[in-house]
Amino acid sequence: MDCVFCKIVAGEIPADILYQDEGMIAFRDINPVAPTHLLIIPRKHVPSLAHLSEAGSSLIADMVKVANQLAKMEGIAEGGYRLVINCGKQGGQLVPHLHMHLLGGRQLSDALG
Ligand code: AMP
Ligand code: ZN
Repeated sequence: MDCVFCKIVAGEIPADILYQDEGMIAFRDINPVAPTHLLIIPRKHVPSLAHLSEAGSSLIADMVKVANQLAKMEGIAEGGYRLVINCGKQGGQLVPHLHMHLLGGRQLSDALG
């Protein structure tokens, strides 16, 4: 599959992986926009939020749980952080494999786009 995140899951391209379990992995964004900028992704190729089935929606809850854990590990839980999922072209999604951004370590702007 020609998907950069599937290649990271498969170990075909390198990434700074901080967390893995049977369903998910998390790694540092290659082009960070904040001191902590991690991506949490399902191992399974789901193209976007819009492709989540009813049954798969608990995936998001699991991703949030991992993100909260990583925020603690990164030392940004107290200061505050932001979780972002872009969906589709107008939503700003560049990589078509579902992912959640965990951003923190600096004051984030209040702009929502
Ligand atoms: P989005 O715009 O929500 O699709 O975000 C995609 C994110 O993936 C961007 O922040 C990129 O910097 C990041 N990214 C793309 N390729 C890689 C890679 N090989 N390793 C880590 N992060 C990546
Ligand atoms: Zn993929």
